[in-house]
Amino acid sequence: MTTILVTGGAGFLGSHLCERLLDRGDEVICLDNYFSGRKANIAHLLGSSNFELIRHDIVHPIYIEAEQIYNLACPASPVAYQYNPIKTIKTSTVGMVNMLGLAKRCRARLLHTSTSEVYGDPEVHPQREDYWGHVNPLGPRSCYDEGKRVAESLCMNYHLAHGVEIRIVRIFNTYGPRMDPNDGRVVSNFIMQALRGEPLTVYGEGQQTRSFCYVDDLVEGLIRMMDQDGDIGPVNVGNPVENTMLELAQTVLDVTGSKATIEHRPLPQDDPRQRCPDISKARRLLNWEPKIDLRTGLSRTIDYYRKTQFSS
Ligand code: NAD
Ligand code: UDP
Repeated sequence: MTTILVTGGAGFLGSHLCERLLDRGDEVICLDNYFSGRKANIAHLLGSSNFELIRHDIVHPIYIEAEQIYNLACPASPVAYQYNPIKTIKTSTVGMVNMLGLAKRCRARLLHTSTSEVYGDPEVHPQREDYWGHVNPLGPRSCYDEGKRVAESLCMNYHLAHGVEIRIVRIFNTYGPRMDPNDGRVVSNFIMQALRGEPLTVYGEGQQTRSFCYVDDLVEGLIRMMDQDGDIGPVNVGNPVENTMLELAQTVLDVTGSKATIEHRPLPQDDPRQRCPDISKARRLLNWEPKIDLRTGLSRTIDYYRKTQFSS
């Protein structure tokens, strides 16, 4: 049995990760300040004797023991991370230093969840790990993008200076059950709008692209990266099937059977025009690739929203 700390464990991805690690027989310490996560996401795990829950903000140091640390703490949706941009930066910088300090003291391996946002509005397509990115350091997304870039640099420097065992994963857009229905991300917005029969809000012309990975595939990629000894990363983990936002809206309408219309809204500043991972490295290193296609993943997510948001 391994003792594993999951920061941000009450969030969307963190709750699925905690569940998978417990199923595998590990002891899981879930740490969260509930900024964008919810106790409801991990309520079903509270009965397990191998599960422990701590309310804590990683911007403050903490002294506990763990053999592995998955660092997920950080708001991920643009609405959530732009709500308090300075706090977002502190979480990815001061918080990252605290988690790396903890890993150093415990001699724990730390996996950091970085993001495709480190590539910004990419001029290289699809994005490979050796691309340095095209990020506006002053724009509304910079608190998140630049915070995550500093976090990667901190990981690398703790590794070089102190021998901390790090793993860096760059996650591309991921969706699934337990995504906060009000977090403003495109998949949750479109599904909630379709189920309510309201117009789906497509920003701009809807020709911008994203590549959507189902949460179970993503969690499998994180665990494989943590448990291999060959490479510290970074490695892209995401689904290489690319969709425009108009295509996504149409697919959500098809899968829900909704008769809702599509409405265009202004495109937010610095919205990346295209995003698609090159996952050759994940395939080679982790023998990993996504298994769940978009329609199957959407259908599971829609079932979840129907049960949790629309049943009386
Ligand atoms: P989420 O907002 O659901 O989860 C983040 C969790 O971290 C929340 O429970 C939140 O309360 C907690 N948190 C935030 N600041 C904290 C702090 N200072 N101290 C302690 N806890 C804190 O988001 P998610 O989608 O589950 O994302 C998890 C991680 O994966 C994030 O680091 C995010 O940047 C990264 N990521 C996610 C995606 C995606 O598509 N979901 C894409 C790229 C990267
Ligand atoms: N988007 C949209 N309608 C919405 C929410 C988002 O068209 O109601 C677009 C947004 O402009 C972006 C894409 O969907 O181009 C993905 O947005 P999201 O906030 O989910 O993630 P990110 O931009 O961080 O990839």
